[in-house]
Amino acid sequence: MNDKGAARRAEVLLDRLLRIAVTATLVVVGIALGREVRAQGAGVLNLYSARHYQTDEALYENFTKQTGIKINRIELGDEQLLQRLRSEGANSPADVVLLVDAARLWSAQSDGLFQATDSRILDQRIPPHLRSSDNTWFGFSTRARVIVYNRDTVKAEDVDTYEELAEAKNKGKVCTRSGSHPYMLSLLGSMVQRSGEGAAETWARGMVANMARAPKGGDTDQIRGVAAGECGVALTNSYYWVRLLRSQDAKDRDVVRKVGFVWPNQATSGTHVNVSGGAVAKNAPNRANAVAFLEYLSSAEAQGYFANGNNEWPAVKGALAANAALESLGKFKADELPIAAIGKSIVQAQKILDRVGYQ
Ligand code: FE
Repeated sequence: MNDKGAARRAEVLLDRLLRIAVTATLVVVGIALGREVRAQGAGVLNLYSARHYQTDEALYENFTKQTGIKINRIELGDEQLLQRLRSEGANSPADVVLLVDAARLWSAQSDGLFQATDSRILDQRIPPHLRSSDNTWFGFSTRARVIVYNRDTVKAEDVDTYEELAEAKNKGKVCTRSGSHPYMLSLLGSMVQRSGEGAAETWARGMVANMARAPKGGDTDQIRGVAAGECGVALTNSYYWVRLLRSQDAKDRDVVRKVGFVWPNQATSGTHVNVSGGAVAKNAPNRANAVAFLEYLSSAEAQGYFANGNNEWPAVKGALAANAALESLGKFKADELPIAAIGKSIVQAQKILDRVGYQ
């Protein structure tokens, strides 16, 4: 009995030691492999992108042709992408991060996921109001937050400012996506910046009081809701409208026929403009390649591809999108509030939404 017990104990001990040895070996090998992946970077760029459009293929291929740098792409939704970066922490292989909307870029910046990029080229090409004040992120294309309305039930002059959407005359007519979505947070943040927290809260409260239905769906769903008559007026990013304009589907053209388009706030502050942007990741293993890629994105050729991929406007002055549907919308007065300033109001904006019950 004793002998058996001793033998069993020895067996258990041996088993444990073996396990420890195997685990230790795996850890060492794992670390070595991780280093290898991170070190073999001379000709590689690890791109984490929340964008995925057809024209992006040419955009990336041309970069590789010009520089010899191979791009490894990870494409995820904005939120998943940010979560992945946060959980990978210091071991993240990400070199460049592409995100849409200043609210998300700001949130990534304040979470310490980016590092500053000192580049004369980016400094010269990207207008100061379309990038962060500390050069951590840069806008590479712009989009406008516009108003669309039902031609049969609403007059353009009753809905040609953001402020009017919250006035009593538009009761029961307004549709938007969720108030907490970055597109809405950025717009409300811009109002906090310009008019102060009190005025922004009054606006948000008026919007809630004027809803035709509880916020749901994306911007395209709001446009469709307007065409169907469920909504009288709605907010949308410009590229969703242009997508419908360019659609081959007869149903989409039908939507466009029923819906009017206005550039908001032309007589006052100008239309809210936001960005698609990018940054060098905090722990970029291939930092020089990352900077080269951001500089490439600001080149005339890349600007065309980048903007066209999502029917947006190039951020760089003088760069051409050559997008007939986008050009058909004409010129407009854009709000020139620095996009980075909005970040300072995002937390306040969310608190306002919570207070007024804007879902
Ligand atoms: Fe979008």
